Amino acid sequence: MHGLKRERGILFVISGPSGVGKNSVLTQLLKEVPGLCYSVSATTRQARKGEVDGVNYFFMTREQFLEKVETGDFLEHEEYVGNLYGTPRGYVEKELSEGCDIAMDIECRGAAQIKRMMPEAVLIFLTPPSMEELKARLLARSTDSQEAIEKRVKKAEVEMGEIYTYDYYVMNDDLRTAVEDIKKIIGAERLKVSRLKRPSVTK
Ligand code: 5GP
Repeated sequence: MHGLKRERGILFVISGPSGVGKNSVLTQLLKEVPGLCYSVSATTRQARKGEVDGVNYFFMTREQFLEKVETGDFLEHEEYVGNLYGTPRGYVEKELSEGCDIAMDIECRGAAQIKRMMPEAVLIFLTPPSMEELKARLLARSTDSQEAIEKRVKKAEVEMGEIYTYDYYVMNDDLRTAVEDIKKIIGAERLKVSRLKRPSVTK
């Protein structure tokens, strides 16, 4: 048997509380997993030190963002601790239809919206080893104000309850182990027969 081909690319949605290490895990995955690309989100949040427009996010004003909401440019969008975040529709649809797999880092409500629209999407929840550890990581990161950190910790407690709506969970205690766990998930999902394009029936 030969010529087995998948119908479409797979969407891997990675969520988890702020500070859990989604960025580090994703950076590593994109380096190590061939055929995986990253969907860059749009946001109205201020760029953090070292963040690059078009690489980490498409940074924009609230007005620009809302204009894009009006024109249907986002697959989903949500407000998160006072800032707007959205997934550009065009990029995701193009890559998936060309058979490329996409990873994205979005919060829980956005992930739930994606799952409703695309039940075949794979939702992965990255969890910290404990809430104490999460708080320590947010403080160590020191890219946010004290007030922003406190808001994010409160939000994290709510977000942890969303884990039961996900397909998989991965604990980020050790970066290497977390990356390997997600690579196993990606590998298994890529081998699902249900994702194969079926040959047209000829008599
Ligand atoms: P941060 O400001 O720390 O970069 O991101 C804050 C939260 O917004 C994170 O939980 C991240 O996953 C989420 N986020 C980033 N991009 C998007 C997006 O396009 N849509 C949604 N719904 N959430 C996003």
